[in-house]
Amino acid sequence: MTEQENQPASIPMWVCGDCGNTEPTKTIICPICNSQNIDIKQSKGYGKIVASTIIRRPSADSLFDEAFCLCVVRMDEQVLISGHYYECRLIEAGTSVRVLGNKHQVPIFTDTLAN
Ligand SMILES: [Zn+2]
Repeated sequence: MTEQENQPASIPMWVCGDCGNTEPTKTIICPICNSQNIDIKQSKGYGKIVASTIIRRPSADSLFDEAFCLCVVRMDEQVLISGHYYECRLIEAGTSVRVLGNKHQVPIFTDTLAN
């Protein structure tokens, strides 16, 4: 990973100021209570692996040209985020991870015991 590709770790989350519902994608109206009182907060960057798989041949238009581990992580804020594990290997569900950085706007995770 070059320095240019390695962007600082940040995962924005859209949090309802009325009911506290948290969404991982841009939200202007809360799907739970219909409030428009939405704040953008940054995730603390910690979560647990829900599932992982290896993508051996990225699609032709992918910005990633090598095999990678695609993982789904339940962040401590209780939202599901997809990203890549820093190594190309499967990771056991339930493993605690944290965000290392972003590459091509995809969060890169590592386990909390490594690095
Ligand atoms: Zn709400």
